[in-house]
Amino acid sequence: MTIQLTIDGEVVTTTEGTPLVEVAAANGTYVPTLCHHPGSPCLGTCRVCAVRVNGAIAASCSLGARDGMVVEVNTPELRDLRRTIVEMLFVEGVHNCPSCEKSGRCQLQAVALDMRLEGARFPYRYPDREAEHDAARIWLERDRCIFCQRCVEFVRDRETGKKIFSISRRGERARIELDVELADAMPPEQVAEAVDLCPVGAILAKGVGYDVPIGQRRYEAWSLRNRVLGRRPS
Ligand code: SF4
Repeated sequence: MTIQLTIDGEVVTTTEGTPLVEVAAANGTYVPTLCHHPGSPCLGTCRVCAVRVNGAIAASCSLGARDGMVVEVNTPELRDLRRTIVEMLFVEGVHNCPSCEKSGRCQLQAVALDMRLEGARFPYRYPDREAEHDAARIWLERDRCIFCQRCVEFVRDRETGKKIFSISRRGERARIELDVELADAMPPEQVAEAVDLCPVGAILAKGVGYDVPIGQRRYEAWSLRNRVLGRRPS
């Protein structure tokens, strides 16, 4: 059903139930995301796409459009709220962008650059999280993981549908596990897809390293904002 709502005061028309983050992008309003993967079910784990809907804060990936909604995206308060969440993601992990193989292709880095983030207002925690190096073709660098859970939900063994990544432990100690046997059965293109799916440099393919020259990497050549808004280089 076709409905109408407002985004930052502009009336937009869409189909009922379309995730607000996608309605916004289709109408030229960028909302940063990290866990949202277009075309895949909503995870709602990162909350970076926070907006205000009818006066209440909500994750815009997890809320479907309804007729008459009043959506605010670009207010100073909401920009600061989203920025705060991104700062918290940075201090909770170890993100040494200049030395990371995912630099230039990392969504967290791209979102931070778009926000002009140069530091965090919180103390860095520098967690010491054990890496998983046992698989033949995958490195799992847990200290870069932002726990978006994309890998857990969307990377499956192609024969059995079993999860290749899972979550162990609870609370602050929760971490991503890799089923090494299933990982070793992944064809190379599925490994590449998993690396691409991870919004940071936590899942890496062994033997690849820094394979794209600086200046040509995905978000250097074309910003995340432009990609989300579907703009093309002129
Ligand atoms: S390993 Fe990557 S995809 Fe998986 S939860 Fe961590 S950040 Fe997300």
